[in-house]
Amino acid sequence: MSWYTGDTTYDTLLAIGFAFAALIAFASTFGQSAYGRFGATKKGINLNPKLGWILMELPAPISFAYFFFQGQNHTELVPLLFFGIWMCHYANRGFINPMLMRVHRGTKASFSLSVVLFGWVATGLHGYFSAWFISELAPFLTPDWLTDPRFVIGFAIYLIGFTLNVHSDAVLRSLRPKPNSASDNSEQPRYRIPYGGGYRLVSSPSYLGEMLSWLGFAIFTWSLAGVFIFAVTVANLLPRALETHRWYQKKFDNYPSDRKSLVPFLL
Ligand code: NDP
Repeated sequence: MSWYTGDTTYDTLLAIGFAFAALIAFASTFGQSAYGRFGATKKGINLNPKLGWILMELPAPISFAYFFFQGQNHTELVPLLFFGIWMCHYANRGFINPMLMRVHRGTKASFSLSVVLFGWVATGLHGYFSAWFISELAPFLTPDWLTDPRFVIGFAIYLIGFTLNVHSDAVLRSLRPKPNSASDNSEQPRYRIPYGGGYRLVSSPSYLGEMLSWLGFAIFTWSLAGVFIFAVTVANLLPRALETHRWYQKKFDNYPSDRKSLVPFLL
């Protein structure tokens, strides 16, 4: 993994990207992004969360596809495999999960437009960094790479993270009534205590799964593009997980006392 790829535009933007990740880490110490349980309460343009999520994630697959097909290796097996993994990941994050999300009946739109606009910088850069690296700047991504320990270990970590993330999001969904069912009304509590799966050990297993996914991605692509999105994800989700844990403890007297915030048995 080298900082200099020889592509000055790429290297410069990557440096700016890491500065952006540091800015997110700094900003997160002052408060969480305004959506969900920490959603916007002030005036401003606020969106329905389904729309907010779809819009925010859209640049990731678009910029990835745009730059990927301009790279000289875009017809090679391993880059194409990574293209498929990327599109599956964003089909879930940017479309399936938002569409399945159960929005509580009594909740006003609170997904701040500023979160979407800020998110576009991260998702747009993320698509460019990863696609251009994979299809243009990484000659080592030949079929031999599929038996390299960095691919095997990284991809295993990615799969564990992705599975944990998808399962944990499904547990949260199951806490709310099905849309338009008899019990789907504003009398139902917006939040309940989640149990089972990763929730046996931590309050935010979906965030842990998301971080593991990008850690695995950074390893199996052996790229600073992967380190960039891992850094952005940790900068964003580590403080949010700590705040979410405190929020649960305050809201529910019977919240499981042995549950950690994010890392089982440790944090
Ligand atoms: P949350 O866990 O906060 O919320 C997910 C959904 O579950 C929302 O619809 C939320 O409703 C609902 N929900 C949350 N807690 C409860 C509860 N206790 N009872 C009932 N319903 C609940 O996740 P995020 O919205 O922050 O993230 C969604 C996904 O996106 C996650 O998988 C996350 O890992 C990923 N993500 C990735 C990021 C990255 O940087 N790569 C950044 C942020 C998220 P409501 O909206 O009403 O709170």
